[in-house]
Amino acid sequence: MLAQDLHIHTTYSTGDSAVVSNQTIELLASVKHAKVIGISDHFDYLTDKKFEAYRDNVRKYGLILGTEVDGAHWVDEAAKYPFEYYIYHCYNNSKDYLAIDKLLATGKPVIIAHPQALDTDLSKVPVDCYIEINNRYVWRYDWRKFYTPFIGTFHFVLGSDAHQPNWLTHSVAEYVASELGVTNTLIFE
Ligand SMILES: [Zn+2]
Ligand SMILES: [Zn+2]
Repeated sequence: MLAQDLHIHTTYSTGDSAVVSNQTIELLASVKHAKVIGISDHFDYLTDKKFEAYRDNVRKYGLILGTEVDGAHWVDEAAKYPFEYYIYHCYNNSKDYLAIDKLLATGKPVIIAHPQALDTDLSKVPVDCYIEINNRYVWRYDWRKFYTPFIGTFHFVLGSDAHQPNWLTHSVAEYVASELGVTNTLIFE
């Protein structure tokens, strides 16, 4: 069993073509692949009335209520909702770097999602953020070159980013973390 997995998508990510109808919160709670499970469905699909059902369903199973925020455009609204943490898409532009401060101002943990996949420049990211080692994406890039300059700067978090086909596993992310000599920071112990 994993210690913690905070990057998971379910059927509430309705517009995500990588998510299928079997990926329910109920199934996740039954599989229980991690001691601490946080659900991080895309915020753009959770606004308006959908949020209440999402929140109630996540809490019903004792899971942690998170969301994945797609850049600066969504930050003001996302910061108003009672999420317990944020996973953030930080594209390589000044607006997206600046908006991180608004998420940090909520006092909730902010995890920078799969930075290689979005060309995020970690030298522009506040050190209070956690940096993700994302099982879905990390192996597609030169992760050693990308992360090594920042090993002493940030705390890291491993995430499955549970789309298919890498559903509910950290196998590659764990290998990368061990090669880099970093650990999976347990945010919700
Ligand atoms: Zn993402
Ligand atoms: Zn994701």
